[in-house]
Amino acid sequence: MNITLNGQTCWAKPGETVLDVARREGMNIPTLCHLSAFSPTGSCRICTVEVEHCGTLVPACAYPISEGMVVRTNSPRVRRARKTIIELLVANHPPDCLFCVRSGSCELQKLTQEYGVRTHRYQGERRRARIDIASPAIERDPEKCILCGRCVRICHETQHVGAIDFVHRGFRSAVAPALERSLNTVPCVDCGQCVVNCPVGALTEKSSQKPVWEAINNPDLVVVAQVAPAVRVALAEEFGAEAGTVATGRTVAALRRIGFARVFDTNFGADLTIIEEATELLHRLTHGGSIPMLTSCSPGWVKFIEHLYPDLLGNLSSCKSPHEMEGALLKTYYANKIGVDPSRMFVVSVMPCTAKKYEAQRPELGGDYPDVDAVITTRELARMIRVAGIDFHKLPNEGFDDPMGESTGAGAIFGASGGVMEAALRTAHFYLTGNDMPSPSYAPIRGLEGVKQAEVRIGDTTLRVAAVSGLKNIKPMLDAIRDGNSPFHFIEVMACPGGCVNGGGQPLPATPEKLIKRTESIYQIDRESPRRNSHRNESVQKLYAEFLGEPGGHLSHELLHTHFVERDDF
Ligand code: SF4
Ligand code: SF4
Ligand code: SF4
Repeated sequence: MNITLNGQTCWAKPGETVLDVARREGMNIPTLCHLSAFSPTGSCRICTVEVEHCGTLVPACAYPISEGMVVRTNSPRVRRARKTIIELLVANHPPDCLFCVRSGSCELQKLTQEYGVRTHRYQGERRRARIDIASPAIERDPEKCILCGRCVRICHETQHVGAIDFVHRGFRSAVAPALERSLNTVPCVDCGQCVVNCPVGALTEKSSQKPVWEAINNPDLVVVAQVAPAVRVALAEEFGAEAGTVATGRTVAALRRIGFARVFDTNFGADLTIIEEATELLHRLTHGGSIPMLTSCSPGWVKFIEHLYPDLLGNLSSCKSPHEMEGALLKTYYANKIGVDPSRMFVVSVMPCTAKKYEAQRPELGGDYPDVDAVITTRELARMIRVAGIDFHKLPNEGFDDPMGESTGAGAIFGASGGVMEAALRTAHFYLTGNDMPSPSYAPIRGLEGVKQAEVRIGDTTLRVAAVSGLKNIKPMLDAIRDGNSPFHFIEVMACPGGCVNGGGQPLPATPEKLIKRTESIYQIDRESPRRNSHRNESVQKLYAEFLGEPGGHLSHELLHTHFVERDDF
């Protein structure tokens, strides 16, 4: 079909909307409630455009094109209507931009600037609600909510959790957990996908910057940081660099200048996780154990299965997640090496994830002291770098501290969906055949698709594996396990669609194009690594020889493994 957009003839396919065609033609139409890949709701009306044949204003996101249609996306009438919509949103919004964590990345603030809204034109009663700070991971400020519904759709349709929904009607409309309780009293899994999809500051991560600064300024503490695989391919975006820019060395340099005494690599913990997890899988396969084994390094996913499928907890690997393993070793092996009492060690994990904030507080993850004392997200680290007055672009490339600074390409790919599986297959291959995989790359389980499956032949063993991201995608597989119909031996599960590159703590906005670039960079780090198999990490080998004994041994179980619980206490 042909339609005319702003005087320009454009082709269009049946079923497309005005917004689809305009975006393809490079004409920007603002949106707030719209989420690509979801059916439109047309609720915010900010994408309003003018259609000539009916002489009316329609929402571009929901209006289907028809042959010969003439549309204006930028007429005076359209601009006036959009400005009025913004003014009405502002009328029911707190004037908090000076204090708001989203100032600078807020979609409403940007529109207010672009459309020249300079005053509160519509004065009147404003909706009042208390801020919910009870969750260890997510803060909700309902007064800033513009009722776009993006969080509700993500939580229900992508994550199949349904922790939040619309409540009340008219002026009292709000988005809230059931019975307007706090988020920590409903089965929210702390994934933060609502946060990365919220256009304003109504949903944010729970900040840990204050306790981290206090620890750094406490002369009695030895404050160390560790950095997750997905942080290094995203942090530079916060400073204007292209998505996928690899900034490992500058991240280390920034953390040292902020005041961390040592900076370690969570990729080391990832290599260790693979050794323990591959050992556990082979033990289950040869000695009998719950199969398929499900990975346990995504804390949002772990909380999901604890809430909703507690009868399948036996299928979950008992391995702690990489940063928790690393934290446990920093407070034992490393503290002993440098002669520091573990009570004086303060471990900060820099993570792409909001659920890690919740995970660090789990009482099972630690002994006399928590394995990890605080978790900051990629966004929070960027704020700390700014506050410290550090010019990120002028930083030198610095290396991680030893001995937990060495890592392999297998540890690096934990940051992408399918990476844990691929890393585990590399080491399982070595354990089963005595040789490394001839080609360590395993394409069938790479990429951003929510479900990837493969059959892998290693020596005489055939393994059926799957890598799943986005929690809605794991439900059918869990139901099949429940029914005794699962064909798989091993399933990797990541709560966030696409894996940690798209974690709830990553720079905003997380567009599909950015996620592809971050993922490509993760695999680039792997390709360029001198060692690409976790079992070839010499510092990990030394750790077992000096301290842990054998993989899956007594001390490994004490420090690196945990147990999971049916969770009805939230
Ligand atoms: S949500 Fe946006 S508009 Fe509202 S206070 Fe925060 S930055 Fe300002
Ligand atoms: S953090 Fe995840 S589970 Fe919790 S409300 Fe947000 S999207 Fe839903
Ligand atoms: S909390 Fe954010 S994403 Fe959810 S409805 Fe409100 S503004 Fe939209």
